[in-house]
Amino acid sequence: MKKYISIIILTISLLPICLRAQDSIFARNIIKNLSSPEMYGRGYSYGGDSIAANFIKNKCKEIGLLPLSDDYYQRLQFKSYKMEGDCSINIDSIVLKPGEDFYIKNFSSSVNSKNIPIIYTTVKNASNTKKLSKFLKKNEKSIAQSIVCIETTNELSDEEKTFLQNLNKRNPFGSVGIIIGGEQLPMASVSTRPSKCDYAIIHIKDNYLASKPQHISISFDNQAIRHNSQNVCAYIKGSEVADSFIVFSAHYDHLGTIGNKAYYPGAHDNASGVAALLDIATYFSKNQPKYSVVFLFFCGEEVGLIGSKYFVNHPLISLNKIKTLINLDMFCGGDEGIMIVNAKADETQPICKALCNINDTHKYISQIKTRPNAANSDHYFFSTHCPAIFIYTMGGKYGGYHDIHDTCESCGLENYENIIKLVIEGIKSL
Ligand SMILES: [Zn+2]
Repeated sequence: MKKYISIIILTISLLPICLRAQDSIFARNIIKNLSSPEMYGRGYSYGGDSIAANFIKNKCKEIGLLPLSDDYYQRLQFKSYKMEGDCSINIDSIVLKPGEDFYIKNFSSSVNSKNIPIIYTTVKNASNTKKLSKFLKKNEKSIAQSIVCIETTNELSDEEKTFLQNLNKRNPFGSVGIIIGGEQLPMASVSTRPSKCDYAIIHIKDNYLASKPQHISISFDNQAIRHNSQNVCAYIKGSEVADSFIVFSAHYDHLGTIGNKAYYPGAHDNASGVAALLDIATYFSKNQPKYSVVFLFFCGEEVGLIGSKYFVNHPLISLNKIKTLINLDMFCGGDEGIMIVNAKADETQPICKALCNINDTHKYISQIKTRPNAANSDHYFFSTHCPAIFIYTMGGKYGGYHDIHDTCESCGLENYENIIKLVIEGIKSL
């Protein structure tokens, strides 16, 4: 008897672990594919985002989704940069690793020079007008052929922060480029700049600069381009009210490559959201919904919500016929539940309340937090036309954010199935 009791206790105590250990093979497979080197970080180099779009289009076809345009694509063009080919930095005989040891701002001008002299200053001195002019005078003859290295600390004053930010707009040194030293590399981004600058901004980890090396060799090619991309748009026809729409959206683009040696996998951001959309699509393809359900996979999010903004300005469905839009962006982890953005607006109350009520009953996830609207993902431009929310996960396991460590292997999908269940039940209750 005692044996049986202990088996029962063991079974009961293991039950929540088993549920938590659920891992969607389908989602893992999608995330693995989209974050693989063959997708080149789904950005602007090597046609990465178009390779990803083609993969998603084929998945939509496999699932049986209908195209919202002739060929599932809504084509658009936007300004961007691409860095293909060699991208190397050597200090003395040390070869620095892209994305790990150095980060090049995406709008930097190309550099291909060996043994560029380095002139050192500190952020404290460079942000002081008097000290800066003294520095410029002292290095007057050599600075145009040199690279200026600014040493920073973790605690920066407001003036110092502003000074560093302004380097994106103007090079006060007139040098070939600027090196910014720091303990950590900054978060990568591909936001556009009105025009390409005529200098390079390179962040390098402190430890390579500690001995104040006198020369650096840099080689990379960065091209300003007009980039051709596409949103992938598909749908399932509703059984009762086919001209009203539930819309699910997720951006599939990410930050691309750092030359030919490194790329940003973007597993959590946002291969996971794409996987979730395809999972939800699979469900509704087998369980025909009352309303038509539209799936929008956006390009150009990382450059500034360009794909979703384009769709709102050139809609393939009537925006006022959208009953609810749910945007999913960063869907791994989730040990601390989910956040709903734009949960305070009157028109989003039905879906937000439905999700909270369902979770109160079924305890699918540990908590649902809410916050007001923000222009932080692709729901934003829809939110003035229809009820639109953005869901992202909180806590749990994922590799990194906007860096080279956001890999499939590092993504925790323990909560994934339950979040999907919650979202599907929420939509079905509308
Ligand atoms: Zn994202």
